[in-house]
Amino acid sequence: MSPEAGTDRSQPRFLVDIMLGRLAKWLRILGYDTVYEHLTDQLVLERIRQEDRILLSRDRELVALAGEGRAYFVRNQRPLRQVAEVIRAFRLDPERYFFTRCSLCNAPVEKVDKDRVGAEVPAYVLQSQEDFWRCPSCGQIYWRGSHFERAKAWLHRALTDRGDWPEEIPPGRGDGTASLRGDQRSNAT
Ligand SMILES: [Zn+2]
Repeated sequence: MSPEAGTDRSQPRFLVDIMLGRLAKWLRILGYDTVYEHLTDQLVLERIRQEDRILLSRDRELVALAGEGRAYFVRNQRPLRQVAEVIRAFRLDPERYFFTRCSLCNAPVEKVDKDRVGAEVPAYVLQSQEDFWRCPSCGQIYWRGSHFERAKAWLHRALTDRGDWPEEIPPGRGDGTASLRGDQRSNAT
C-alpha cells in the first residue's frame, strides 16, 4: 500500500485548534500528523515551536501571536470546506497517505496479520477483508471496507464540487472500524 505515515519528513505537521475537531480528524484520515488536544493558548504556542507544527485556527488573535509561517487562519466555517481549504493551502496530497494514521490518536497504524484480529472485528469483515492495520497506541483496528470507499468518494467530491456537499463524515461509529474501546470513538468527531 501507500507509504507509511510518519516516515516522510517533508510532510507538514499540524496542531489544530480545539474548536476544529472535524478538520483535525480528517487531516489524520489523510495521514497527516495532527495534534488535537485541549491546550492553553500558551501551550499551543510552545508546542508549535517545539514540534515544528503549523497551527490551524479560526482565532485571529492566536494566529497573530503564533507569528508568520507558524499559523494559518482557516477561513471557511463549515468543517468539510475547511478540509478542502487546508488541502489546497498546504498543497497536501489527499491520496498518498490516506488511512495510514489513527484518526483517534494520531499514531501511524501498523499492518497486522489477519489471524490476529479475529476476535476484534465482525465476522462479515473477516470474510470479506484480507488486510488489517492496528493503531499501536490505542489498539483500534482498521480495514478498507465500504467506509473507506465512502471516504474517498466524499473527499473527491469535496475537492471538485463547488456546490453543496453533505456535511456527514463517512467514517464513524459502527460503519467499518472496530475497537475494544469503541465507546470512545465518537469523541474524535
Ligand atoms: Zn489510535
